Amino acid sequence: MEPETVLREGDALLIVDVQNDFCPGGALPIEEGDAVVTVLNGWIAAARAAGVPVYASRDWHPPNHPSFATEGGPWPVHCVQGTEGAAFHPDLALPADAVPVAKGTRFDKDQYSAFDETGLSAELARRGVRRVWIGGLALDICVKATALDAAAAGIEAHLIADASRPVTAEGGAEALREMAAAGVILEEPPSARG
Ligand SMILES: [Zn+2]
Repeated sequence: MEPETVLREGDALLIVDVQNDFCPGGALPIEEGDAVVTVLNGWIAAARAAGVPVYASRDWHPPNHPSFATEGGPWPVHCVQGTEGAAFHPDLALPADAVPVAKGTRFDKDQYSAFDETGLSAELARRGVRRVWIGGLALDICVKATALDAAAAGIEAHLIADASRPVTAEGGAEALREMAAAGVILEEPPSARG
């Protein structure tokens, strides 16, 4: 799917957690996590040309977040607010007016989805957004949760498949099945079409 041919008024681009800690060398690295950056930059350029708003979620944990293994959670310490690991990947060409969406900020629970008690669905409704194009990290965790919540909110949700990578291949395959079953539209790259 070529971004410049599909983006139009009423769309939003939603980039999920493209942060240093989720890329190779980070605290919770996803294999080829940084490979999504080039693809997403193409979508960002197309979004800017089409006047489509860009949202960028970030895992933005307080120290001692309950998701950390040190606190009994499932994940190593990652994406602590204000650290280099929590910064967006330096090559991600976010426009100056990109809107950050902070999640994972609560002291009492984790938030995988960019829609989970962040108010994002209300924000998108206010701006007249009816379709979202989603990419980022990780496919089987936060991207999946975000896409499922978008669909549940009645927003037409498109997953940019080549702009995402999973924590595990099996998890990624299962995530694609779950998303498709929930009505999320999977956008394959042109090279993947038979
Ligand atoms: Zn997290």
